[in-house]
Amino acid sequence: MTLSLLAQTPSRAPEPEPAHEAFLKLDKVERAFVYRRGTLTRPAKSFNAVDGVSLSLRKGETMAVVGESGCGKSTLGRLAAGLMRPTGGYVDLDGISFGELSADGWRDSRTQVQVIFQDAAGSLDPRLPVETQVREPLDLHNAGTREERRRRTEEMLMAVKLGRHLWKAVPGELSGGQQQRVVIARALILEPGLLICDEPVSALDVSIQAQIISLLADMRDRLDLTMIFISHDLAVVRQIADRVAVMYLGQIVEEGPVERLFSAPMHPYTKALLAAVPVPDPAVKRSKQLLMGDPPSPHAPPAGCRFHTRCPIATERCGTDMPEMRSFGSVHVACHHAEERS
Ligand code: SF4
Repeated sequence: MTLSLLAQTPSRAPEPEPAHEAFLKLDKVERAFVYRRGTLTRPAKSFNAVDGVSLSLRKGETMAVVGESGCGKSTLGRLAAGLMRPTGGYVDLDGISFGELSADGWRDSRTQVQVIFQDAAGSLDPRLPVETQVREPLDLHNAGTREERRRRTEEMLMAVKLGRHLWKAVPGELSGGQQQRVVIARALILEPGLLICDEPVSALDVSIQAQIISLLADMRDRLDLTMIFISHDLAVVRQIADRVAVMYLGQIVEEGPVERLFSAPMHPYTKALLAAVPVPDPAVKRSKQLLMGDPPSPHAPPAGCRFHTRCPIATERCGTDMPEMRSFGSVHVACHHAEERS
């Protein structure tokens, strides 16, 4: 393993490769959960928090997954990270299906995939100095000599721009942004191929958010990371994603290149999410297509198109027929009336 943080930053990833060269591939992935309402004598029921999701990421690509709270995006992140087994479909990383891995293969895959969560403080040991925590994955994997591990740790702490005076500090002595830099350094020190970021900046002030996003983009480019960036905030997503997948009640409803999705959204739900994003220039008017009501319970999603209970252009057919995902160039949309909206 070589740590090449000081190497020249490569240019951004080239245009999409054919699907069979995907680095991460999710194919019709499902994840069911069992729940029981009321007393234990009531029969248990199950629902799919993730329901038939297919996504494909090439090496070095960043896919944002956006949607309201409870739409299944964090569950999707855990499935992609191999932290949770799918109950249907499969997840392939670099040509190997998680479901086919032996115990050793599973352990090795843990170094290939890392996850960053919103709660940086909760991800760190409150008693250990920063430097020790960042070096820990190298120690656990016995990577290189003691001196090499020390040097790599320093290199990584410098790469995430954490001042040397903070290296001996414990997490409680750091700000939220500094803690997240430590988490990023520790996640990347084993040079994973895939990084899953689950709302990594939601708990931070806006100015600090921008710094952490910029750091993640920089580290992605230096290490040629493939990234899934989970967020409810489309304004944040625009700064880092190559592509965006919009999720509603466990399903992807629209997926496409970030600028295309922002400039010409096709799905009514994407339009409504974008309408809620503040526009910096007051002279720019955006059509207001606000969401009506709350999302239905994921335990009992509506028949037909799951969005039909809130969709301003729903027709009778929408209440009975579930729309298939269809391609319009580089954009994929699940809506019966996508043509009329394009
Ligand atoms: Fe709206 Fe119908 Fe399209 Fe669903 S299929 S988003 S209900 S128009």
